Amino acid sequence: MLTSKTGANSCCYYTPHPDGEHLCYKWTVNGISKNVKWYACAGCKSAKNKDKTKPKPPNSKRDEEAETWIINPMDLYDHHYCNPLETSKERGKQIIFTQKKEIINNGGSVKSHIGKAEVAITQKYIIGTFRCTIEY
Ligand SMILES: [Zn+2]
Repeated sequence: MLTSKTGANSCCYYTPHPDGEHLCYKWTVNGISKNVKWYACAGCKSAKNKDKTKPKPPNSKRDEEAETWIINPMDLYDHHYCNPLETSKERGKQIIFTQKKEIINNGGSVKSHIGKAEVAITQKYIIGTFRCTIEY
């Protein structure tokens, strides 16, 4: 049984928008079968929840064991009907999450954690697809 504590059932991926790295799409787990996971676009999924007449959200497929995409989310850009996310905001959320987790696991002063968060914010974004570190 997968729990949110292990994080095994909770990861997501981000892919850059074709217009540039400042925008991105978020892909969350939409199905699991053995070592294969399906990741659907979170933006399209939420748009479809509000309007059922929308088509099926783009769905990518990943072999988690081999760490390769069977259906690459980057090949599904034509299928989006959502508004892309701002990469800086998404990165910010992850940095906050990482620091909170570190405080819970290792303690330390608030000041040192703010310092680490500031360093993380100034670091250049990873180009291309990156894995989300947030556990839901
Ligand atoms: Zn989308």
